Amino acid sequence: MKYADLHIHTNFSDGTFTPEQVVRQAQEKGLCCIAITDHDTVSAIEPAIKEAEKSNIELIPGVELTAEVNDCEIHLLGYFVNYQTQWFTDKLDQICAVRRRRALHIIEKLKNCGIDLDPEELMSEVSSGSIGRPHIASMMKKKGYVISLQEAFDKYIGNGCPCYVKKFKLTPAEAIEMIRKVGGLAVLAHPHYMGNDRLISEFARLGLKGIEVYYAEYNSAVTEHYQNLAKKYGLLITGGSDCHGQSEGRPKIGGVKIPYNLVEAMKKEIEILRNEQKSSC
Ligand code: AMP
Ligand code: FE
Ligand code: FE
Ligand code: ZN
Repeated sequence: MKYADLHIHTNFSDGTFTPEQVVRQAQEKGLCCIAITDHDTVSAIEPAIKEAEKSNIELIPGVELTAEVNDCEIHLLGYFVNYQTQWFTDKLDQICAVRRRRALHIIEKLKNCGIDLDPEELMSEVSSGSIGRPHIASMMKKKGYVISLQEAFDKYIGNGCPCYVKKFKLTPAEAIEMIRKVGGLAVLAHPHYMGNDRLISEFARLGLKGIEVYYAEYNSAVTEHYQNLAKKYGLLITGGSDCHGQSEGRPKIGGVKIPYNLVEAMKKEIEILRNEQKSSC
C-alpha cells in the first residue's frame, strides 16, 4: 500500500524542519508522496523538489492561504499550483510583507505587557517572509516569558487575547480563485476549525474541489462526517498531518497518511481542469 501526507509546513513558514529535512523524513517514514503547504509562501517548493529528485518521493507543490468570513478564519490549501507564476508569487510576497508589519505590531503590544522581544532577532530566525505567531511564541519561550507555546497563545497572542493582531485575509472566493488561476485544486483545511459546515456548499459553488477529511484531531466519527459531506457535495477527500516540525504536542510527518489512490483522484481532477482551461482559451 502506498501512502501520502498532504499537509506539511517547513521553516519557510511556521514549521521547524527545512524542506530537505521534510523530504528525508518522509522517505524514512515510508511515504511515497508529500505536499508542502506553507502559510502564504511557496519558497520551500524548489529546494524540496531538488531533494525529492534524489529519492523516490513525489512532491506536490502546495500552499495554505488564510481567508475570513464573519470574523471566522478559514484555511484553504492549494495543490498542484504552478508555483513559479509571477503574479502569484508577487501576491504572496505582499501577504508576507503584511505578516512582517503585523509581527512588529504584536511585539509592540507585548512590550506594553512587560514582554521585551528584539524585532531584529525575531526576523533573523525566519527563513522567508512568512512570519507567524508561532515564531513569536517560540521566542517568548526561549526568553523565559512563558513555559510553553500554548501559554503564549492562551495568555497573549491567541485570537481575542490582549496582544492579538489580525493579519491580512482574503475572502474565500478570492483564495479559491487565486488557487484556480494557478492551475491548482482548492481544498478546505481542517474543516472543524471553521465551525460552520453550512459554508462548505457555498465554497463548492465558488470552486472548492476538496476537503481535508483525514486530520490528526479527528476521530472516526468526525472523519465519517466529513466523508459524507465530501460525497454530498462531490468534493475530493484529502488528509495530512499538518506537521509543523518539532513543535510540542503536534503530529509528526506521516502522523496522518492517506492512501495514494486519493492522490490519483486529485490528479484526474487536475487533468479535467487543465483540459477545460485549454479548451476555453
Ligand atoms: P498566524 O498565521 O500568524 O495567525 O498563526 C497561526 C498559526 O499559529 C497556526 O497555523 C498554527 O500553526 C499556530 N496556532 C494557532 N493557534 C494556536 C494555539 N492555540 N496554540 C499553538 N499554536 C497555534
Ligand atoms: Fe501553522
Ligand atoms: Fe491551517
Ligand atoms: Zn497547516
